[in-house]
Amino acid sequence: MKKRIIILGSTGSIGSSTLNILERDLSNFSITLLTANKNYKKLIKQAKKFNAENIIIKDKKYFKYIKNELRNYKTKVYCGNISLKKIIKKKVDYTISAIVGIAGLYYTIEALKITKILAIANKESIVCAWNIIYNLSLKYKTKILPVDSEHFSIFNLTKDFSDNDIEEILITASGGPFLDTPLNKLKSITPTQATKHPNWKMGKKISIDSANLMNKFFELIEATKLFNINPKKYKIIIHPQSYVHSIIRFKNGLIKMILYNTDMEIPISNTIYGFKSDFSNIKNINVEKLNQLTFKKVNIKKFPSIKLLNKCFKIGKLAPIMINAANEELVSLFLKNKIKFLDIVNSLLKLVDDKEFKKVSYKKVKNVDDIYLYDNWARLKIHNISVK
Ligand code: NAD
Ligand code: MG
Repeated sequence: MKKRIIILGSTGSIGSSTLNILERDLSNFSITLLTANKNYKKLIKQAKKFNAENIIIKDKKYFKYIKNELRNYKTKVYCGNISLKKIIKKKVDYTISAIVGIAGLYYTIEALKITKILAIANKESIVCAWNIIYNLSLKYKTKILPVDSEHFSIFNLTKDFSDNDIEEILITASGGPFLDTPLNKLKSITPTQATKHPNWKMGKKISIDSANLMNKFFELIEATKLFNINPKKYKIIIHPQSYVHSIIRFKNGLIKMILYNTDMEIPISNTIYGFKSDFSNIKNINVEKLNQLTFKKVNIKKFPSIKLLNKCFKIGKLAPIMINAANEELVSLFLKNKIKFLDIVNSLLKLVDDKEFKKVSYKKVKNVDDIYLYDNWARLKIHNISVK
């Protein structure tokens, strides 16, 4: 029996890497659903190539065109936010959640109800809605696997251990394209410069987050949600080569780390194949790279995003939801050249020191609607704060 697969965000970087993996083994997989936001051309191509059973385009204006293009194919076409339970009657084997931003939450939750395994790359959903996701995973008996390279690595290293056995966890950060750029040059960084990551080819939003290290802010919070380990044990360390993805010091004196090439196909594929992927084509351990592994502390002056972590842990639990929403707004303003590169983190630092923000951070989140409510609140708020 072929394994039935869903790819949420199939036209993106993670989504496309997932399809590359599946393409090499199509006798064992069938595509139950692909989704995209606006990239209708790529979605149509993917639907045809992979004979997808269903596709969803978020943006309604492409719906008719896609339907017409696929009129001679078996693919059913939908648009907007719909109930997956209604269109997919039998549980699928594997879903990857690879939409970017909190926009990924809706289908992450929908997928939880109809998939046996949910591999989550969409870190924003974990950061903002972990309790809801976790409770649904228990209710629907869905296995959750982290895809983010650092978390995939921490997951592998800690799965047979508990908080008690672990002393510290280092999450590595490449430092992005501006690791060696002098602070005064950061003022004039353009979106094109900021989206050029030295080691990874990723979507625009995560590339900007990597350039100012906001990505590490989210990843540290993501780790505290995914793993039952004291948040104080996590640290961020710069490792420009991105060969080591996390380092863990255990109580028993052992230090373990996981190394692999900067290729997201490795974590993705291992979540598909139950950690038994075949990458035997990687002939040798990269000794040259091993000889050049370097690590250093984060320069907080240059990357003040890391300061947000301490501030965030000292206030209410709603803070990450609002910081995420505000960051999404700021990244989008920066990509449209409406604010400067440094304005992103500077505005977020202003936001977390805002009295009203602090007060709201202590409100309780009871359901998904509350998440959207405070997400919206922060989006409006940040427009008043950010320097335009
Ligand atoms: P991307 O921008 O390349 O792709 C995003 C996908 O989401 C696209 O298919 C797009 O059509 C879809 N999408 C965007 N907005 C949407 C909306 N409003 N509604 C529905 N669909 C929408 O992003 P990416 O780099 O593939 O990253 C995806 C997620 O994985 C992010 O959360 C990112 O943080 C995480 N992640 C990515 C990498 C990486 O190497 N790219 C690594 C670790 C984690
Ligand atoms: Mg990562």
